[in-house]
Amino acid sequence: MPRPRKNDPTSLIKPLLADFARQVASEVERLTLQRVRHALDGAVNGIGARGLAPRARRQTVLCYYPGCKNVAAPRFGMFCAAQHKGLSVTEKERYRKQHAARRK
Ligand SMILES: [Zn+2]
Repeated sequence: MPRPRKNDPTSLIKPLLADFARQVASEVERLTLQRVRHALDGAVNGIGARGLAPRARRQTVLCYYPGCKNVAAPRFGMFCAAQHKGLSVTEKERYRKQHAARRK
């Protein structure tokens, strides 16, 4: 068992590791997407269908705040990071309900 260190490096290493993990994850995702696209291209070309490019990204969702055209951030409960992330929970709840009602 190693002796516990006075200056525990964990707090320094953890964010680095998290960052690294994110990078690896996104790289893997990119490569996977590439491979899938490649496979799809082959299949599509085989059939002779064209113009059916696979949608690369999910459609961007706009901020739930009425009239706001910023991109929503799932982190902030689907409100934009620029202006509306600071809304109170009750307000967000209200706008979320409005949003759901509008979509029906
Ligand atoms: Zn907004």
